[in-house]
Amino acid sequence: MRFVDEYRDAEKARALSAKIASLCEPGRQYKFMEVCGGHTHTIYKHGLEDYLPENITLVHGPGCPVCVIPMGRVDDAIHIAERPDVIMTSFGDMMRVPGGRGSFFDSMAQGAEIRMVYSPLDALKIARQNPDRRVVFMAIGFETTAPSTAMTVLRAEAEKITNFSVFCNHVTIIPAIKAILDSPDLRLDGFIGPGHVSTVIGCGPYAFIARDYRKPLVVAGFEPLDILQSIYMLLRQLAEGRSEVENQYARVVPWEGNPRALTAVNQVMKLRPYFEWRGLGFISHSALGMRERYAVHDAERIFDIPGVRVADPKACQCGEVLKGVLKPWECKVFGTACTPETPIGTCMVSSEGACAAYYNFGRFSRERVREATR
Ligand code: SF4
Repeated sequence: MRFVDEYRDAEKARALSAKIASLCEPGRQYKFMEVCGGHTHTIYKHGLEDYLPENITLVHGPGCPVCVIPMGRVDDAIHIAERPDVIMTSFGDMMRVPGGRGSFFDSMAQGAEIRMVYSPLDALKIARQNPDRRVVFMAIGFETTAPSTAMTVLRAEAEKITNFSVFCNHVTIIPAIKAILDSPDLRLDGFIGPGHVSTVIGCGPYAFIARDYRKPLVVAGFEPLDILQSIYMLLRQLAEGRSEVENQYARVVPWEGNPRALTAVNQVMKLRPYFEWRGLGFISHSALGMRERYAVHDAERIFDIPGVRVADPKACQCGEVLKGVLKPWECKVFGTACTPETPIGTCMVSSEGACAAYYNFGRFSRERVREATR
């Protein structure tokens, strides 16, 4: 397989679907969590649930970087952005994430200078071009994006660009998976492991899931056949009584990850004692902050930040969706008060959010099912 169409071949998908069905024990229900929001997007965009037997349920995990940012951190970022000497920079999908006082877009409408960037290097360029302003990069994401933030800080240091700083909100996936495994709310049979994060951390850090929790995990790619093959590999492990970490995405994910990227991250950042995740609460050692050596580039040390804590709106059930306890359409405000244009919760903002994926693709297949059963 060399081209993307080959990963979307309907014939091969049907063949895999038949192999999946043949591995299911009659009468047994299977529940697999796709950890990564990119997988959720693929599952609904390509209607993959239609290829699975009814006794397989896919539930969504916490792997959407925008979705897990708590409202308080958005308010803290807006507090920085409102300073007249600051240019805040952010990825586009953060712009509509609601905080307690509105979103970045609302703040821009009130006069704050917030610019969308495609990478932290773009933010560094803005800092170079505006030496009389302080340029802050709103850093979000899992281990996938942390290396580019770290490398940019190292570049800023090398070039002595002191008006560039990072508001660091990078989170780490392993503690979140552990929190889900320890949660009494959910019984899972296995995990479709996050492909992008694994390009950096490798497959080794998941070993405890197989060893201590006896759950199989298959690191998966993002094309439809990748995901179907991963489900087949999970079922094969269960059928053979194994619980192991396997790598379906070996064409991209080296087993040992990317040591150079990890070195850069470790050089610039360190684990925080704890961090608040939207919907999941405080999880210990689950996020990265800047090391003291890079204090000149650390927005949390440069600016006086209120450290706001804001409860999610009452109607919002993102926490249950992020833990896989609720399907998006089971939230009371899904598709009515909460839509991609008017998001109440974060899961409706990013294309990787489970609610946005359902809203954009999945709701049509549900409507088809409802029509067919009328
Ligand atoms: S529909 Fe909106 S409020 Fe409800 S869980 Fe999804 S994002 Fe959160």
